[in-house]
Amino acid sequence: MDALERLQSILQTKTISYAERERIDFSEYEKFISLIKQYYPLFHEKAVVERVGMYSLLYVIKGTTDLNPIGWMGHYDVVPVNPEGWNHEPFGAEVYEDYVYARGALDMKGHVVAMLEAIESLLVEGKTFERDLYIMLGHNEETGSAMADSGAKAIKELLISRGITFECVLDEGGAFIDGKKLGVNGTVALIGVAEKGYLDVEIMARREGGHASTPPERSALFEVTQAAGLMESNKFKADFNPATRAMFEALVPAMDQPLKFLFKYKDIFKPILLNVMTKNPETAATVRTTAVMTMASGSKAPNVLAQDAKVNLNCRIVPGDSVEEVVSRIKRRIGSRFTVTPINGNNPTSVSSVESRCYTSIDKVIKEVYPDIKVVAPYLMIAATDSRIYHDQAEGVYRIQPFMSIKDDRPTIHADNERVAISSYYQGIQFFKALINALNGLI
Ligand SMILES: [Zn+2]
Repeated sequence: MDALERLQSILQTKTISYAERERIDFSEYEKFISLIKQYYPLFHEKAVVERVGMYSLLYVIKGTTDLNPIGWMGHYDVVPVNPEGWNHEPFGAEVYEDYVYARGALDMKGHVVAMLEAIESLLVEGKTFERDLYIMLGHNEETGSAMADSGAKAIKELLISRGITFECVLDEGGAFIDGKKLGVNGTVALIGVAEKGYLDVEIMARREGGHASTPPERSALFEVTQAAGLMESNKFKADFNPATRAMFEALVPAMDQPLKFLFKYKDIFKPILLNVMTKNPETAATVRTTAVMTMASGSKAPNVLAQDAKVNLNCRIVPGDSVEEVVSRIKRRIGSRFTVTPINGNNPTSVSSVESRCYTSIDKVIKEVYPDIKVVAPYLMIAATDSRIYHDQAEGVYRIQPFMSIKDDRPTIHADNERVAISSYYQGIQFFKALINALNGLI
């Protein structure tokens, strides 16, 4: 069996995460666990293996020194599929025209398998590690991060109880992208160094109910959506934050004119640059806290006025801003006629340094393994990963993407026909080997 066949076989396990826990088929999770045990025997022999929260996996390979360890995260659950949209069996892992098609090919069993292939192959070569190597594989990232049974959180708590602090933690995220949008003629490798915060806020108006045939001047539902609409239409102030600053500083040398000039003096040209960036939703989200209405509820019947009308405002918070600030800004802006309740929220992460040994190693290894990359840059992740929980337990947390083909195939993540190019998969294994080598100081 070769590395490609092992990937296909592992992608065939239906480790599907559902929010309704009773729908999950855990025998598929067991299948995944026993397959990796079978395919990576030396890894399983050298590592101490623990199951945490039933199905999450923690592997520790002892290093030769007591320097701070390196943590590699991953998750092996995947989101459900809608088979109608697929041209290939979603869990068939069929090879077609140099691609492997399967749910999880990119997010992120493909990534996990490439990592395990790299470790196994280093161990076969007889390498030992300078630092302890922690492999942390969650089983419910897709639905579990906010839930009580989050495998990633259970592992973190276990490590806190053991007093473990990491030199750095690595996880999914990051990207290879066409640099055009960023003013770079060529491929850009982005390393996630921070994540935005997350917050749901419930805005409620309590008014007198009654029959809809004799409506008041303004109904509760009207008032509450108007208040929430005020938050949606009056955007929060845009500004550069430490993560976007670091990104532009890395990109400037590779940019073409006239952007190169504008971003070199980004503080002088800030009003113009922010004006352009806020025109596009993707770039706007990197420079300001956003708020958008996602759910609304009124009365239970079509002819009854709502007594309690509610709107959920989903907010994503940039570094430098906070949950507390956002809640108090909402209260100030919409006034006291409404009840404002934060439902759940977490602050943006800290911004990991681009001067750390870990970041500079990642940067160097990417340029070695992918010589066609024009530039490597840090960036602010808009989406959340489980690695956010390690910002207080590691000197740096970095999100990397090992597969070049994601440049074209990003839209297949959580969607139909998810796939990874076979050549990218093999290159990904090389990338992880080189990176483990650089970070763990292989001897
Ligand atoms: Zn993922």
